Order: sequence, then C-alpha cells, then structure tokens
Amino acid sequence: MMTPILEARHLSRHFGAIRAVDDVSFALAPGELLAIIGPNGAGKSTCFNMLMGQLRPTHGTVHLDGTDITHWPTRRIWRAGVGRTFQITATYPSMRVIENVQMALLSHHGRAFSIIPRARGLYRDDAMVLLETVGMADQAGRHAAILAYGDLKRLELAIALAHDPKLLLMDEPTAGMAPRERTDLMRLVAGIVRDRGTAVLFTEHDMDVVFTHAHRIMVLNRGQLIAEGDADAIRADPRVQEVYLGG
Ligand code: ADP
Ligand code: MG
Repeated sequence: MMTPILEARHLSRHFGAIRAVDDVSFALAPGELLAIIGPNGAGKSTCFNMLMGQLRPTHGTVHLDGTDITHWPTRRIWRAGVGRTFQITATYPSMRVIENVQMALLSHHGRAFSIIPRARGLYRDDAMVLLETVGMADQAGRHAAILAYGDLKRLELAIALAHDPKLLLMDEPTAGMAPRERTDLMRLVAGIVRDRGTAVLFTEHDMDVVFTHAHRIMVLNRGQLIAEGDADAIRADPRVQEVYLGG
C-alpha cells in the first residue's frame, strides 16, 4: 500500500475529564477527499487542531508522508505542505484580489513581504492561473474588502493553493454560506482534488454535500470514530442513524 499522506494513530485529547478526541486512528491517501462528520462537540475541530500542531495530543501520533510530525509547530507543518483554509485573517481587505494572491505567492517563494506586487507585477500570471482555478479571474481587480462572503472563501482557497499544499485541512469551509454556495465550493474543491491531486480532509454539516463529494466519510461521536466508509455504507450504518436521528 502507498504511504498515506496523513496518518493519525490512537490520537486522543482530553480536557480534564472530557475526552474530546478518544483514540482515533485513520489514514488519508494522496489525492483523497475525506470528510469527518459528527454532531456538535464530537471532536472534529479538536482533531484538526492536533493535525495542524495547534493543540498537543494527550496520546497518539500524527505522521505526514511517513514522518512523525506530532510535536512540530504549526509553521513547520505548514511549510511541509499542509494548508489550512478559511481563516479570514488570511486576506488583506485593502488590497485587490489578485494582489492578495500575489502576496501569497511571494511568501511561498520566500520573497520580501514588503514588495508591492502591483508595482512589480511579480507572479501576476501565476496569480491569474490560481484565480481561474477558483473561478475568480473576472474579479481580479476588485478590492478584497467588497467581496461577497462566498467569493472571499474562494479567494482564501486560492491563497492556500499559492503554497502548493499536498494536503488541505478544511474545518467547516462552508460555514455561513447559502446552500447553493456550499455546493459550488465543494464542487470546486473536488475539482482541485481531481486536477491537482491535493488530498483534502474536511468537515461539513450539509449531508447532501458530504455524500455527493467525499470519497470516504468518517463519523465521530463523543470523540470516538464510530463509522467509516463510502456514502452508501455511512447512510446504511445503524450507529450513524442512531447519532443523527437522536437515538
Ligand atoms: P466539534 O468541532 O466536533 O463541534 P470540538 O472539537 O470543538 O467539537 O469539541 C469537542 C469537545 O471538546 C466538546 O465537548 C468541547 O466542549 C470540548 N473542548 C474543545 N476545546 C476545548 C478546550 N479548549 N477546553 C475545554 N474543552 C474543550
Ligand atoms: Mg468544530
């Protein structure tokens, strides 16, 4: 079997008596679109925070491409090719859309952050390619501050892609979006997985979106992994039905 891009082994995080994540093991293959679902408080965000080095596990390990990264700081994990999307702070509101992407490309290539990309035209073509990838080429010249919420999310995706991640972690990327925007964004992410081979781990509330786009689904409940499989297997799983039907 191929080395997984990401592997969690016996991952646990306790907060006092609360077992937020309790002995969770899983692997993510290169190019795989894997969803983690589960009710509020199931431990999804705690999982993401441990995978990204933002929270220390109580037990267990995280491997990236076969390397133990459990105790690496976030920045080192990010540099090793793990992107995390959809932090609003990732964009500069006073800059144009394309300049935001140029800044990300400058940063990725280790160039001085103070260079004004508009004046230098640096990475303009590369930035346009990324904006085309996320369907925002026609908004390149607009200021980020006036973007609609869904467009801001797509800009953040372009910024994440500027770092050419081999793995993207997306904790509720479609939070606050209208149903139509959710579907559009997940379709876009699925296209990126297909075309670039980027592996993606994501959480999402909308089950239709999850069942349509995820290659595989893991279900967390009270910190424990209670089911794993494709959409049909998850839909048919009695433990999953119990959790979602309030049993
Ligand atoms: P989800 O993202 O699936 O909604 P979380 O990972 O945010 O779930 O939370 C899992 C559990 O851990 C919840 O019971 C939550 O209250 C608890 N928890 C999360 N972060 C902390 C923290 N920093 N301190 C104490 N409890 C926490
Ligand atoms: Mg959460």
